[in-house]
Amino acid sequence: MGRMTMPRIQQLPAAVITKIAAGEVIERPASVVKELLENSLDAGATRIDIDIEQGGADLIRVVDNGGGLHPDDLALAFHNHATSKLATADDLFAVRTLGFRGEALASIGGVAQVALQSRQPEALAGAEITCHGGQLSPVKVWNGASGTRIEVRHLFFNTPVRRKFLRTPGTEVGHICEVITRAALARPGLHLTLTHNGKNVYEITGDTALLDRIRLFFGKEVSDRLYPIDAFQGPAHLYGFIADPACDRGTPKMQYLFLNSRWIRDRALGHAVQEAYRGLLMTGRYAAAFLFLDLPPDQVDVNVHPTKAEVRFRDSGALFSFVLATIRNRLSEENLTARLRPPGPALMTSPLGTPWLAPREEQAAPSLFAQTGFPTFTKNPLPEPRRIVAPPPPTVAEDPRSFQDFGNLGPAAVNGHAVNDSASATKQAIAENGANGSKAIQLHNAYLVLETPEGMLVIDQHALHERVLFEQFKERFRRGDLEAQKLLIPEPVELTTEQAAKTLERKGELAELGLGVEDFGGGTLLVSSYPAILGKTAPAEILKSVVDYLTAQERLPSREHLLNELMSLMACHAAVRSGDPLTPDEITALSSQRHLAQDAHHCPHGRPTALLFTRHELDRQFRRV
Ligand code: ADP
Ligand code: MG
Repeated sequence: MGRMTMPRIQQLPAAVITKIAAGEVIERPASVVKELLENSLDAGATRIDIDIEQGGADLIRVVDNGGGLHPDDLALAFHNHATSKLATADDLFAVRTLGFRGEALASIGGVAQVALQSRQPEALAGAEITCHGGQLSPVKVWNGASGTRIEVRHLFFNTPVRRKFLRTPGTEVGHICEVITRAALARPGLHLTLTHNGKNVYEITGDTALLDRIRLFFGKEVSDRLYPIDAFQGPAHLYGFIADPACDRGTPKMQYLFLNSRWIRDRALGHAVQEAYRGLLMTGRYAAAFLFLDLPPDQVDVNVHPTKAEVRFRDSGALFSFVLATIRNRLSEENLTARLRPPGPALMTSPLGTPWLAPREEQAAPSLFAQTGFPTFTKNPLPEPRRIVAPPPPTVAEDPRSFQDFGNLGPAAVNGHAVNDSASATKQAIAENGANGSKAIQLHNAYLVLETPEGMLVIDQHALHERVLFEQFKERFRRGDLEAQKLLIPEPVELTTEQAAKTLERKGELAELGLGVEDFGGGTLLVSSYPAILGKTAPAEILKSVVDYLTAQERLPSREHLLNELMSLMACHAAVRSGDPLTPDEITALSSQRHLAQDAHHCPHGRPTALLFTRHELDRQFRRV
C-alpha cells in the first residue's frame, strides 16, 4: 500500500458554497420566516403578512408594505454577500438594521424555489425574478402593490437529506410561531398576520400594545402578573416587564431579551435574571421576563453569530449588574424581599462556625437554608382531600416518654411562630407518631423533624412526598396497574401551537402513564384522564409541567428516559408543597416513609431531601462531649 495522496486544493463551485452557507443560516422553515421578516422590517414595513403551507415545507409567503427593491437590484439580492445595509467594515460597528451579512436570500434561493416581486412606492413599475436552487431567471416587469412579496416553495427540494429532517408540520409551525412571537414583541406597532394552510393563526394589529401582545401569546395568567421596569445606566436603557415569581416555568424560554429591537439570547444576562429572583424560585424553575435593552450600536458587536442570535457586549460585567439590580429592586418594591433574606447564621452554623452535617451533601445544606424563601411562595393551598396515604396501623405500643420529650419542643419553643392550631393538636401528632416508633413534628408547614437512632433528622416534606409518589408511580407502572382517572368533562389547556405539537408527539407515552391528551385544534389540548395516583392535583397543572418539560428537550429522549422523567415530574407536581399544613395522620404517614428520604437524599431538583444532625454533633454543640 502506498501513501494516501490528498486531492489537490480547488475553489468550491458557487452552488456548493451556497449550500454550505445555507446550512448555517437556514435550518428549517422557521429560519426562512425569520430572515424574510427581518428583511421586511429593515425595509421599513409596518405590515407583514405571512402565509405558510404544510409547516412551511411547501410554501412560505411573506408580503410586506416596505420600501421595496429597485428592479436592477433583484438579481443582486440573491448574490452571496450582497447587501444594501453595509458599505464599509466600519459600518459593522454601527449596525442599526437586522440584516447586514447579505447571505439570507442567497441561502434561501440556493435550497428552494423562490419568487421575488417588488415595487418601490414611488416607482411606476416593479419587477420580479425567480431563483430555483441558485438558478436565476431573467427579470420581468411586475405591477403589484408597492412593497415586496416573496414566495419560497419546496424548501430543501435539492437537499433531500435536509428535507427528511423536517419534523411534522405542527412542530415546524410551532417554531415559526416562536419567530412571530419574537417579532411581534420586538416591534410594537407592527401589524403582523400568520395563516397556516389557509387558517388564521395570528392577526396582530398595529395598535396592539406590548402588554396586549404578551397576553395574546402567553395568556392572562402571565400578562396579569407582570411588573413594569424602566431604568437607565450610562447609555444603557432597560425596560419592559418582569413576571411575578408565581409565573415560574420549567425552562428559561419565557425570558425574552431584545437588544435594540433584535431578539437575542445571552447566557450572562439570563443568569442576571435568575440571580435577581434567587430565593423566590425553586431550583430548576425559571422566571418569566420581557426585557428590552437599548444600547448605542458601538457598545455591542452583533457580528459574532451566523443568525445573529448572540452578540458580544463591550462591557458585559456592567450590564450584568445593571440587569440584576434593576430586577431585584423592582421585586423588592413588590415587597418580595422578605422571602429573599436568608435566615440568621445560627440556623446554618454552630457558634464555632462548623456547618451542620447534611447527609452526603455537606455543601448543599447551607444553600438550601439560604433559599428557604421559596416555600412561602407556593400558590394555592392543596385541594382536599389530602394525598398522603396513611401507612398500616401502628404495631409498636405507645411510649409515654416520647410524648414528654417532644412536648418540650412544642409550639412555644418554635420561635413564637403560630404554627400551632392548638398546642394539643401538636401534642396529639407527637403522640401518634410516638406510637409509630418515630417522633415527628411539622415545623413551619415545611419540615418534618424526627428523632432517629443517629440523632435528629429534618426532612423537606415536599421532597420526601415527591419521592414517595415517584416510587409508587414506578412500582405501579412496572406492575401494570397504573390507574387512569377519567375526567367527566375533558379539561382544555391552551398552549402555543409548538407546545401542542410537541406534546401530541408523545401522546402514546403520556397515555401509558394515565395522562390522556387529545388535540382540540388551534393549540388547545384536552386532558381526558390523569394518573389516579396523583390524587386531586389539577390535571391541567400536571399537563402544563409535562409540556414545559417536553418543549425544553432539544432532541427526542428515549422512551424509557422519557417515562422516568415524566413520572418524576408528575410526582413533583402532585406532592404536598412547602407551606402546606399537614394533619397528624399525614405527618405519621410521611415520616413512616422516611427511609426514602434517607436513601434517596435528593429530590430530582438537586436539593437535599433530608438533613441529619447527628447525636454526636448535638452533644458537641452543647458541650456535652
Ligand atoms: P441582508 O439582509 O443581510 O442585507 P439578504 O440576503 O437578507 O441580506 O437581503 C439582500 C438584500 O436584498 C438586502 O440588503 C436588501 O437590500 C434587499 N431586500 C431583501 N428583502 C427585502 C425586502 N423585503 N424589501 C426590500 N429590500 C429587500
Ligand atoms: Mg436579511
